[in-house]
Amino acid sequence: MDKQTLLRQLPAVDRVLKAPTMTALAENTPHVLLLEAAQETIAALRQAILQGETGLELCPEGVAAQAARLAESKQAASLRHVINATGTLLHTNLGRAPLCDAALEAIDRVSRSYSNLEFDLETGQRGHRFSHIEELLCRLTGAEAAAVVNNNAGAVLLGLTALAKGKEAIVSRGEMVEIGGAFRIPDVMEAGGVILKEVGTTNKTHLKDYAGAIGEHTGLLLKVHTSNYRIVGFTAQVAGAEMVALAKENGLPVMEDLGSGMLMDLSPFGLPKEPTVREAVEAGIDVVTFSGDKLLGGPQAGLIVGTRAAIDAIRSHPMARALRIDKLSLAALEATLALYLDRERAIGEIPVLRMMSVPPKELEERCSRFTAGLKARLEGMANIEVVPEPSAIGGGALPLTELPGFAVSVSPTNVSVDALANHLRGTRPPIVGRCQENRLILNLRTVLPQEEAILSEALQEALK
Ligand SMILES: *Cc1c(COP(=O)(O)O)cnc(C)c1O
Repeated sequence: MDKQTLLRQLPAVDRVLKAPTMTALAENTPHVLLLEAAQETIAALRQAILQGETGLELCPEGVAAQAARLAESKQAASLRHVINATGTLLHTNLGRAPLCDAALEAIDRVSRSYSNLEFDLETGQRGHRFSHIEELLCRLTGAEAAAVVNNNAGAVLLGLTALAKGKEAIVSRGEMVEIGGAFRIPDVMEAGGVILKEVGTTNKTHLKDYAGAIGEHTGLLLKVHTSNYRIVGFTAQVAGAEMVALAKENGLPVMEDLGSGMLMDLSPFGLPKEPTVREAVEAGIDVVTFSGDKLLGGPQAGLIVGTRAAIDAIRSHPMARALRIDKLSLAALEATLALYLDRERAIGEIPVLRMMSVPPKELEERCSRFTAGLKARLEGMANIEVVPEPSAIGGGALPLTELPGFAVSVSPTNVSVDALANHLRGTRPPIVGRCQENRLILNLRTVLPQEEAILSEALQEALK
């Protein structure tokens, strides 16, 4: 058949819209999306005809079926649930920490209706949004006062500008961190109007380096956690308590960006012993900042704890308003922090902590159960086995730490690993694993129990 004849067969937009497949969607799909899908489908078919393609579905029902699929994909939410089978606990691209049930319930409770976000129920007067987490944060860290902003990058920027604008902040050359996504200590300082005064060397900085740099323009001593890298070998950094003693002699505050920040010692789970927020506060640091959605396992937030005077300066700074936390995050944060009052509850209910605490043996058993049912069903289509596989913490925290464990390895027989990975990213919900040579590694540590059945189904579907 020649192209002109084929083009004449293409149905009009109106006919496609009136086809049953499309009218069935009309109830739940905005008309603009249906119209757009019909037009785009017809335009794509016209293009295909002109390029000489054959075997195209050109009857109204066939075109409508293609348009309906397109309309459905336009209608689907862009931001959606993804199954994280990478094993990386705090995958920044996959939304970092999944929230605990208590946090989700708090969001639901507080956001379906009005709330006392900034209303003092005792006096009937205006209240403060920080009041909902200050007492909790002080109890958990031993600090005098607390505030919270949008994220830790915002907390660092706000702290610097509120305490040292127009003055110098002294930082070790070993702590000139770039976190990624344009968060670099020298740039943050510049943005905050603070003058960077670097001291020491990349590998060694001594107390005398800080002492020698203090002058009439000094506003602050800053300590930064080298979250995503380590300087190893011949090294020296100054402990917080020593910096505090020096700063006190000179009437200066010390601020510490702890990065991930931990509210409890996680070394029993095989993590290195890291200073907890409480230890930084006990060392006398005036302002400690850390993230809500890294190892804390809560919503995106920047937590700030410290002395009353420093926190008051931070709270009343004009930039605080621009960085303020929203009520949904605040509700989730309060609920997550409350779990930390009881160590066992925190480990049992906060997903990141729960995933982190699963012993290798248990992961191996989980993987064995998962593969047992699949092996026979995937016979001839893929080789599937349980392999040793560590998990990374991710999110720029603890770069050298790996949690030992096990994962499911899938080697497809008839398709490439890339094709399998692509297919799984296109399923609902999408599944993200790790390609390694001719195997797809699915690490169940970060797969929620209720996601296992979906993962199993999707694998069978993808390989058949
Ligand atoms: C992650 C990190 C930040 C940024 O925190 P966000 O909550 O992602 O804004 C800042 N400083 C350090 C040291 C970090 O590790």
